[in-house]
Amino acid sequence: MRVPRAILFDLDETLAESFRPPTHGILTRFVRILAHMPTAIITGGSFTRVEHDFLKSMSDNQDRSNLFIFTNSAAECHTFKDGFWQVEYAIDELSPAEKGQIIKAIEETIADMPEFAYARFWGERISDRGAQIAYTVVGLDAPQEEKMSWDPDHTKRLRFRDALAKKLPGFEILIGGASTIDVTRAGVDKSHGVQWLAKHLGISAQEMLYVGDALFPGGNDYVVMETGIQTRRVDGPHETAAIMDEIIAASAAKKN
Ligand SMILES: [Mg+2]
Repeated sequence: MRVPRAILFDLDETLAESFRPPTHGILTRFVRILAHMPTAIITGGSFTRVEHDFLKSMSDNQDRSNLFIFTNSAAECHTFKDGFWQVEYAIDELSPAEKGQIIKAIEETIADMPEFAYARFWGERISDRGAQIAYTVVGLDAPQEEKMSWDPDHTKRLRFRDALAKKLPGFEILIGGASTIDVTRAGVDKSHGVQWLAKHLGISAQEMLYVGDALFPGGNDYVVMETGIQTRRVDGPHETAAIMDEIIAASAAKKN
């Protein structure tokens, strides 16, 4: 494999199962890659979640100067400077009117679609994340099996997305994680993070690699393809581990 100059990993179903910390094997490989090149985590989830589920598992002595954390569909980027996580950029929040419009449209679409209206759920379903509204069909507190088994082939959420899109022109609606649908302003998506990172590093998107599970039309990773970045689609963390091994081997060979 050609060694990329930077790499971006999606979080849910790529580095870790949704709402689970990464395995020791993934974390070890991640840290080795970080020593070779600028490395990013890019997710529809919030920074609090990445911190809790992933960053806390890293050693305090770890050099994090090459690490970029893009959260809320790349509405924000966080980097580690002077001993703290700091906001590198943050796109303006949705206005209260926009949030109200989105939540109303989601609720109306749920009411129109029986498989959503009658879906069992645990805990909060619609969360306000500032620049993004996220709808987790089975709820944030659902047992892992429920999250994983609700829509494994994405067909239910793609139908929901199509119905919701008709009510929300000017907004971007994408599928992420195991049972989530994210709504942002048009243009606020992971491709924004890819372009920002390329510019920040002074390289082209084509020289970077993106690894994600949702590289299908309507998936929240798919939008990065328009940037020209190289992509590898995975079907879960076990496949990500294999790609990480390729990168580590290729980086080591290049050095020697
Ligand atoms: Mg994912």
